[in-house]
Amino acid sequence: MHYKIVLFIYLLSLSLTAQIQEKVDFTKATLNISVLPDSKEIKGNVTYNFKVLQAIDSIFLDAKNMTFTSVKLKNKNVTFKTNDEQIIIKKNLKKDKSYTLQLEYTAKPKQTVYFIGWDKNSTHNQVWTQGQGKYTSHWLPSFDDMNEKVEYDLNITFDKNYEVIANGKLTNKKTNDTSTTWFFDMEKPISSYLLAFAIGDYNAKVLESKSGIPIELYYYPNDSLNVEPTYRYTKKIFDFLEDEIGVAYPWQNYKQIPVKDFLYAGMENTTATIFSDGYMIDEDAFIDKNYVNVNAHELAHQWFGDLVTEVDGHHHWLQEGFATYYALLAEKEIFGEDYFYWKLYDTAQILQSNSENNKGEALTNDKASSLTFYEKGAWALVMLKNKVGAKAFKKRIKRYLEKYQFENVKISDFISEMEHASETDLSDFYSEWISGKQFPTEKVFEYLKNNSESIATYLSLQKNITGLETSIDSIKAIDTTFFNTTSTKLKKHILNTYSEHLISNTIKKQILTSNELLVRQALIKNTSKIDTKLKALYESLLNDKSYITIENALYKLFLNFPEDRNLYLDKTSTTIGFPDKNVRLLWLTLALVTENYNSLKTKEYYDELGSYTGKEYSPETRETAFQYLYQTFGFTDFHLKNLLQATAHHSWRFKKFARGLTDELLKDEDYKNRFKAMLPNLNEEENHYIKSKLN
Ligand SMILES: [Zn+2]
Repeated sequence: MHYKIVLFIYLLSLSLTAQIQEKVDFTKATLNISVLPDSKEIKGNVTYNFKVLQAIDSIFLDAKNMTFTSVKLKNKNVTFKTNDEQIIIKKNLKKDKSYTLQLEYTAKPKQTVYFIGWDKNSTHNQVWTQGQGKYTSHWLPSFDDMNEKVEYDLNITFDKNYEVIANGKLTNKKTNDTSTTWFFDMEKPISSYLLAFAIGDYNAKVLESKSGIPIELYYYPNDSLNVEPTYRYTKKIFDFLEDEIGVAYPWQNYKQIPVKDFLYAGMENTTATIFSDGYMIDEDAFIDKNYVNVNAHELAHQWFGDLVTEVDGHHHWLQEGFATYYALLAEKEIFGEDYFYWKLYDTAQILQSNSENNKGEALTNDKASSLTFYEKGAWALVMLKNKVGAKAFKKRIKRYLEKYQFENVKISDFISEMEHASETDLSDFYSEWISGKQFPTEKVFEYLKNNSESIATYLSLQKNITGLETSIDSIKAIDTTFFNTTSTKLKKHILNTYSEHLISNTIKKQILTSNELLVRQALIKNTSKIDTKLKALYESLLNDKSYITIENALYKLFLNFPEDRNLYLDKTSTTIGFPDKNVRLLWLTLALVTENYNSLKTKEYYDELGSYTGKEYSPETRETAFQYLYQTFGFTDFHLKNLLQATAHHSWRFKKFARGLTDELLKDEDYKNRFKAMLPNLNEEENHYIKSKLN
C-alpha cells in the first residue's frame, strides 16, 4: 500500500482455511530451541499441555517438513506418523482429561525463518521470523489455525555475542563458554502466527508508558544517532492509544526490532513488533519518511489482532481496518487535524476511482486488496463513529475488547456490540460499508467538507475552475485561494493538481522564500521548466532539510542549467539521503554522465554505483541502482550476477522486479549469451530462474 515514492507495504497475506481441531484445547507450550545459522536449522523440543473436550482417537499438529526424534505423550513414547504438512498421533484420548505432549524435532524452514548474512564476508548477521501468511509450523510444530490460542514460553539458545528477542518477558539468561540461553515468559495465550523471534547485533533504549509498561526500542550499535528520529513520539503514541482505546495494554511489555530485508513495513507479533530497518532514519529524513504511522499501526494491532483475533480472513477488517484507523487517530494527535482529514481525502479519492471502475470490494471479501482492508476499513470506522457518536463508540469498543479478549471474533460480534451502544439498528450501515462493494463517495465527501475547511475550499476551487474559460482566470482563482490559506496540505494539493503554467510566479516566489518545507517540495516535484528569473531561488532548495526535495532539486536544476552542473554536483557530493540512498544513487549517476566532472574518479563512482546492486544492500537500494545502470551504462557480469541472485530473493516484490528486468535483458542477444556463459559459475539457487528462461 503506497501513495507516493515512499512505500508502505503492510501485511496482506491471509491464513488459508486451516484444518480445525475442535475436540482438544491446547493451553500451554514450553519451547526450547537452538537456532543454527550454519545449517539454517531449528533444533529443539516443545512440551504442550492440552485438554480433551470430547473423546477422540487421534490428534495432529501442523509441522512442515520436520524430523522428529522423540514423541512422548504423558512421558511415554507414542507412535506417530508424519507427512510434509503434519504430525499425527493415533491414540484414544478420554474426555475431560489433561495431557502433556513432548516433541523433539529438527526443522529446516524454507520460509518463515530468514537467515540474513551468515556467509564468510558478512558483517551484518541476523535471523528473524515472519509468521503471518508464512506459517509458524515451518519452525515449530504448532497450529496454522488462528483459533487455537496457546500460552507460549520461548527459550532460545544462540551464540552469546548476539542479542535474542522474542515474545514476552525476558526472565533469565544463562551463558556458558560460547552460547547463551534466553528465557522468555508469556502469561496469556496467542495465535501461533504471532510467535516471533529476532536475533542480531542490537542495543536497546528502554522507555516506560504512563501506565508502567516497559517499551524496548532496539537499534544497531552504529545507529545510535537515529534512535530519536526513528522512534520519535513512541511514548506519546503508546499513552494515546491506551487512553483512546480505553482498555489497558494487554501484555507484559512492548518491543520494536528493526531487521534487514524485511518482507513488509512491520509485523505486530505479540509484544515484539518486527519492522523494516529502512525506517531507521536520521533527523533530515523524518519529514518525508518516518516510522510514526507504522509504529502506531503495529501497536494498535496488539489489541486488534493480537488480543482479539479474527476467526478467519472474512473478518480481516477487524484487524487491518482497526489498526489503520487507530494509527490515523494517533497521527491526528501528533500532526493535527489538517493532516488527518487530508489523509482521509487522499484515500477516499483512490477508493472512489476504484469503485467507479467497478473494482470496489466488500470488507467481508477474504480476497480483498490491502486498500480495501486498510483504507476502506478505516473509513468505515470513521463513519461508524460519526453515526453512533464518539462517546457510545468508545464505550462499546471497550466492551467488545473485554468481552472477546484472548478469543476470536467475527464482524457480527463487533456490529452487535455497536448496535447495543447506539440502540439503533446498524443493518443499513452494514450493507453500505461492510458487505457493499461500492464506496459511498457522496457521504464521504460531505463528511470531509463539513469537517475540514481547507478541503471545502479545495473542492470549491476545483468546481470554480472547471467553469472558467481562460487560463488567466484560472491563475487568478488559484492565486486567491493560495494566498488566503495557511493550510500546508491545501497548498500542496493545489500544486499537485494544477499544471505548472497555471501557478503564477508570485506563488512560486512566495513558496521559494518561505520555510514551508513540504510546500517547497511539492513545487519542485511539479516543476519541469525552471524560469531563469527564479534560478537562484530554486537553487536554495538544495539546502532544504528533506531528501526528497534535494533529490528532485538536484535532478531538475541539472536538467535546466547544464552550464552549472559541476556546481550542483559539488554542492551535494556528501549527501546520502534515506537509508535507501536516494540522493547518493542519483548523484553518482549524474556525476558519471557529466563530461569532465572529476574525471579521475570516474571509475571509483562507477564501482560504487555498481556495488549497490549487491546483496549486502537493501532491496530498495539495489532496485534503484539496477534502474540507474540500466538506463545509462548497462550491466557488467558482476551486476548480472547480483541480478540473478535477486531473482530468488525472499521479498516477493524485489524478486518480481529482478525477474522482470531479467526477462527484459533476455530479449537482447548479447545479454542472453552472457547469461549463458555465466551458468557454470552459478549456484543452484541463482541458476534456477535463468535456466528456466533460457530453455
Ligand atoms: Zn496491519
